[in-house]
Amino acid sequence: MKPLDNAALVLFSGGQDSTTCLAWALSRYARVETLGFDYRQRHAIELSVRPKILQTIRSLDSDWAARLGNDHVLDLSVLGDVSETALTRDSDIAMQANGLPNTFVPGRNLLFLTLAAALAYRRGIDVLVGGMCETDFSGYPDCRNETLRALQATLQLGMDAPIEIETPLMWLDKAATWQLADQLGGKALIDLIRTETHTCYLGERTLLHDWGYGCGQCPACELRIKGYETFSGTKHLAPRDL
Ligand code: ZN
Repeated sequence: MKPLDNAALVLFSGGQDSTTCLAWALSRYARVETLGFDYRQRHAIELSVRPKILQTIRSLDSDWAARLGNDHVLDLSVLGDVSETALTRDSDIAMQANGLPNTFVPGRNLLFLTLAAALAYRRGIDVLVGGMCETDFSGYPDCRNETLRALQATLQLGMDAPIEIETPLMWLDKAATWQLADQLGGKALIDLIRTETHTCYLGERTLLHDWGYGCGQCPACELRIKGYETFSGTKHLAPRDL
């Protein structure tokens, strides 16, 4: 087996993508810490599911349990003051004239990764792991690979540290993200992601569908459903068997 790399800090929101990234990091790094941001998301559900996911993921694998270290949550409520978006205000999700959905929080990932780099520096960690993805992305320019390569170069220069940004989902679609989770943690991890992670923009969490909780209508739910259906079809398993 390939020896483990030293340490990674995972941007962990409590959604499907960041939970898959966490499992990816736990199978590669000897020490893994997690970071979440409280930016007064209009639904705090993502933040509230994080501790349970961390607890469950420890129970899936004793090696993962040994590697998973501190969880950090930073207050970024200032983001709600500087940007008016459907993620931080109670307004309908819609496309804007510039072609971006109004869920776009300008510069969010730039802020997240810069703060993550500062925290990682203090914790003796060189690798940041994020679930940014160019394949299924909603047009968010701060999820693009080019943006993240440029930011990595900036962080390396500005902090004089060998900071790396790893984005294991960058070229995967949602079905491939489910497949990656299956490879990393099998049915137990798939079940954790289905039942405990949260993706829905509307914060809907009353009815458990095959693909997890959510309204089934918002752009995040639509992507999640489409990916899960492709994934479960590929595996020739009826949803009830998963
Ligand atoms: Zn939804």
